Amino acid sequence: MEALLMSTQKQLAVTDKLYRNRYKVDEDSHLWIKDPKMCLKCPFDFACVRVCPTDVYKWEENMITITYDACVECGACRIACYDIGWKNPKGGFGISYKYG
Ligand code: SF4
Repeated sequence: MEALLMSTQKQLAVTDKLYRNRYKVDEDSHLWIKDPKMCLKCPFDFACVRVCPTDVYKWEENMITITYDACVECGACRIACYDIGWKNPKGGFGISYKYG
C-alpha cells in the first residue's frame, strides 16, 4: 500500500499536491513584516518572495504583501529574512497534511 501511495505521489506536480492539503484559516495572520521600511532596501534581494514554495509574499506597489492563508508552515521565510514575523497558527488553525 505504501509503495502504491509513493508511486502515485511521484506522478503529481507540486501544485497538485498542494490542493490535497487542508487549511483552517484564522482571521489573524501568523505572518507579518516587523519593519516594512526595511523592505524598501531589502538586503536579501527579496528572499521571502524567492524561497516561499506557495508564493505567500509578493512585492507590489513598494511593499510586501502577505497571503498568509496559503502558508504551508515550512519555516523557510523566517530563515531567509529576520524581518519576517512568524508564529505558529493558533491551535486548530493552519494547515493539516493528508499524507504526512
Ligand atoms: Fe511560505 Fe514557508 Fe514562510 Fe509559509 S513558512 S510563508 S510556506 S516560506
